[in-house]
Amino acid sequence: MEYNIPWSKPYFTGDEKNYVLDALDSKWISNGPYVKQFEQMVCDFTGSPFAVAVSNGTTALHLGMLGLGIGPGDEVIVPAFTFIAPASMAVMCGARVVVADINKDTFCLDPESVRSVITPRTKAIVVVHLYGNVADMEPLLKISKEYGIPLIEDNAESFGSFSRNTHAGTFGSIGTLSFHASKNITTGEGGMVLTNDQDLYESMLTIREHGMRTRKTYWHSVVGHNFRLGNLHAAMGCAQLKHFTEISKKRRLVHEIYAEALKTIPIFKSQCFQEGVDPVLWVLAGRLAPANTHSLRERRDAVVAKLVEDGIETRPGFYSLDLLPPFLKEIKALPNATLASDSVIALPTYPELTREEIFYIVDRFKVRINEVFNEI
Ligand SMILES: *Cc1c(COP(=O)(O)O)cnc(C)c1O
Repeated sequence: MEYNIPWSKPYFTGDEKNYVLDALDSKWISNGPYVKQFEQMVCDFTGSPFAVAVSNGTTALHLGMLGLGIGPGDEVIVPAFTFIAPASMAVMCGARVVVADINKDTFCLDPESVRSVITPRTKAIVVVHLYGNVADMEPLLKISKEYGIPLIEDNAESFGSFSRNTHAGTFGSIGTLSFHASKNITTGEGGMVLTNDQDLYESMLTIREHGMRTRKTYWHSVVGHNFRLGNLHAAMGCAQLKHFTEISKKRRLVHEIYAEALKTIPIFKSQCFQEGVDPVLWVLAGRLAPANTHSLRERRDAVVAKLVEDGIETRPGFYSLDLLPPFLKEIKALPNATLASDSVIALPTYPELTREEIFYIVDRFKVRINEVFNEI
């Protein structure tokens, strides 16, 4: 049997075509009624009182930060192990990025590390719910309250995940979503900002529309941007969300099969979920924890490269921010972020992945780990 297993693949329920064609036929192809409908459906599903649809998950972060008034002279705390977007959007707003460490098992922000880097200039704390997980929110909310610093939850990777019956992205002042092709629900490109604060909501609506929201044509009350999501994309989002039970069921099954099969590889420590977290996995991720840790990054990369020969696309963990050119000089390395950056591997994860394929992936993974590390 020949395999060619990509790392990610979008899943269509069959209804997307109907919705998109309806939007197309209506001639409402920029803004249009599906945008509001999609926002309402996301509010209903997540329990968020307000939602602002935007062009992608990165502009969602940008808009959220602009809404909070983040600008020059401010500091934004970001986990050192993350997809770069929250850090780059803080820089786009003119703020300085300050990193906090992650928990080495959940891969999410470590509250104690956050506490240690707060200064009078800290304007926001960005929590990134990685790979489908939900961060340890209770202590983070406590810190947020204690210092009066808003939490931004980057929930691009955990749509559908709850912690103690609260949807990821609805704990803090701002939650952001991404509907990129690889994410738990997709509109191709797309994103959303969630908030429970009506003033913040109004302000974000204005910034999304060039600072123009009154009846007076071309009257701009503030400087804004065009962060809008198109009606065609929103229509697709409505179809995806309508069938989310089906999508999440398939993702959960993939997670279950992986969890069982991966028990045979003790050197691979799968991401841990705190008690109370009910994840819809975006990606099955874990770290390689061999007894001998020399050249961990090089050997992890060797496993990734060898799996390509087996027709399996995997991904290494993110480079910790201190390694990346924009932050090289101003950010220091943190131990758990460095460990994750050197040792994480993310395995192919998407709804249509079959049991047979998962067994094949885990089997080849085991063989390749053994070749590189001489242990499993
Ligand atoms: C995907 C992702 C983003 C960016 O979303 P886009 O829609 O691709 O712009 C931001 N943060 C995290 C953690 C992501 O995984």
